[in-house]
Amino acid sequence: MPANPTVPNNGRAYAWIDSALAALHKARWHRSPRTLEGRAGPVVRLGDRPDRPVLNFASNDYLGLAGDARLANAAAAAAKTYGTGSTGSRLIAGHRSLHRELELALADLKGTEDAIVFSTGYAANSGTLAALLGSRDWLLGDRYNHSSLKSGAKLSGATVADYGHGDLADLRRQLAADRHRFRRCAIATDTVFSMDGDLCPLPDLLDLAAEFDCMVVADEAHGTGVLGATGAGAAEQLGCSGRPFVQTGTLSKALGSLGGYAAGSAALVDFLRNRAPSWVYSTGLSPADAAAALAAVRLVRAEPERRDRLWANANYLKAGLGAIAAEFPETRLLPTDSPILCLQVRDPETVLALGDRLLAAGCWVGAIRPPTVPVSRLRITVMATHERDHCDRLLDALADALRSA
Ligand SMILES: *Cc1c(COP(=O)(O)O)cnc(C)c1O
Repeated sequence: MPANPTVPNNGRAYAWIDSALAALHKARWHRSPRTLEGRAGPVVRLGDRPDRPVLNFASNDYLGLAGDARLANAAAAAAKTYGTGSTGSRLIAGHRSLHRELELALADLKGTEDAIVFSTGYAANSGTLAALLGSRDWLLGDRYNHSSLKSGAKLSGATVADYGHGDLADLRRQLAADRHRFRRCAIATDTVFSMDGDLCPLPDLLDLAAEFDCMVVADEAHGTGVLGATGAGAAEQLGCSGRPFVQTGTLSKALGSLGGYAAGSAALVDFLRNRAPSWVYSTGLSPADAAAALAAVRLVRAEPERRDRLWANANYLKAGLGAIAAEFPETRLLPTDSPILCLQVRDPETVLALGDRLLAAGCWVGAIRPPTVPVSRLRITVMATHERDHCDRLLDALADALRSA
């Protein structure tokens, strides 16, 4: 009997999907999205219990800008003025003055000659690496790099190697042994590691890159708006602004919108406009997203007190989590220099149970499992708009959840 074409999984060629899903369930790796109701913020409502507000320690909205009325108004005004879609790739029909304004504002924030805006951070990383490297080249990446850098490495056709997380001795060893075999070489790294919260040793990494004639692509997805005196990112915090490297990042975390960017020299940006496949062959950022991001970049500059509040909250929670980790030796607070606070636990079952218990107590945190990370952990992200009471409630709920574990 022929398979029913309207039910693809009835076909024999698709039967493996059912077994693959079963394997995911068995390993407790299966995931599905949870609906968030209403406006983004430190207190939100979730679709399965919309009557009950929960504290939001799961977002990447570090400055609390995703729910800020000024961004929403800028987005609405841009949609009314220009329409919703940008209607084409930037090189054909989708380029607006708003895009250029946003790029110049980002370059100004970063202290670079120029910047280019992509439709997502994922596209910025994958397109940048694909443009910079080819089959005669070498890409060395930190083992914990974000998926978008890993995808870009593959897409580029370069030979790809990992080095140990933050391990510059390993990186040096590999460069000394094999750099001569390749034409161009790039080192790619997150500046703030998204599932750990620690920073890459950027100053020494840039020195090493210069010594071995390598480019550096540093992903500031979790650094922009958060780190550095003006919010320019880890590069600013670590004293690397103005050094020659490629900074990428996203408009969708601290900047509260959607999109990504690469920033660097004018020549680099001009080259990416011609050679980055995810820019050349993809529709330009929507006017609403561009306008919201532009408003956010201005607020990063104009309201440094948001960063102060964010760090006060992060330091307060970090101290509280440190005390909890000392009390419960089966947990470990991972080293962090960011508002990403991770409490490592034994296994996926434990992290899921803790996540559920916290949610029942009104606190929403990320329960992160393999394959996203090697060891399961609660991922707690802090916002500038959390109140001290929110932090205390989370710490109390967490200690309770661990006590009853
Ligand atoms: C989220 C993230 C990205 C991707 O950015 P999007 O705009 O969400 O596509 C890239 N790199 C890192 C480190 C991230 O955490």
